[in-house]
Amino acid sequence: MDPAADDLSAKALAIHRRLCALYGCPIPYFHSLDPLSELVSSLLSHRTRNAESGRAFKALRARYPDWAALIDAPTPEVEATIAGVTWPELKAPRLQAILRAVRERHGALSLDFLGGLDVPAARAWLEAIPGIGPKTSAAVLSFSTLRMPALPVDSHHHRVAQRTGLIGPRVEVGPSHAILRAQLPPGWSAQALYDNHEVLMLHGQRCCFHRAPACGRCPLLDLCPTGLARRGRDAAAAARPAALTAS
Ligand code: SF4
Repeated sequence: MDPAADDLSAKALAIHRRLCALYGCPIPYFHSLDPLSELVSSLLSHRTRNAESGRAFKALRARYPDWAALIDAPTPEVEATIAGVTWPELKAPRLQAILRAVRERHGALSLDFLGGLDVPAARAWLEAIPGIGPKTSAAVLSFSTLRMPALPVDSHHHRVAQRTGLIGPRVEVGPSHAILRAQLPPGWSAQALYDNHEVLMLHGQRCCFHRAPACGRCPLLDLCPTGLARRGRDAAAAARPAALTAS
């Protein structure tokens, strides 16, 4: 056993429990899409606000009777349909290429068969397709009707994990998936892993802001080296004028 890894697992569990108490677990699933539709939704959502990617997803649904029709559509038309997302000119051809790859590799335009695989095998199958990374593969397995025990990590989740020291300062989102998953109990259910992702993401959105984290009201402060360092700097800054006055 690695004591440092044990410490990080204990910290990951403490963070999970505190944030679950704050945000209320179990968190209801926000999607009930089949896995192929979840893949489309997830690809649209990259670096895009939820409202915009949701609008683009609905626009695709309204324009094409099924995902096969999207593959066959003129790419500029797909690009115009998803115009509200970030980088529609890249996402339109990528969506078509990825759906085409699913059909070629599986022999049908469906991902329902992934439910018969274990999580590592299902993730490896998805990630073998160019353009699908760990975040997308985990989202397809976790958020879709497959409800498989995979841990997605988005930018908010990643920021909180980094600031609390669960991952190092140079670990990027992709590699952080395996590290953060390994810190949690191997037998955790799909719901428990979904909760873990959701509460860390919510905490990044509502307290551990990108520019000015609200450490003063954060229930993780005593566990967080970043928050403690900020508090130390604030205290030193507050004491400075008094010291100057005294001299
Ligand atoms: S103490 Fe501050 S930096 Fe740490 S998790 Fe809380 S808000 Fe983020």
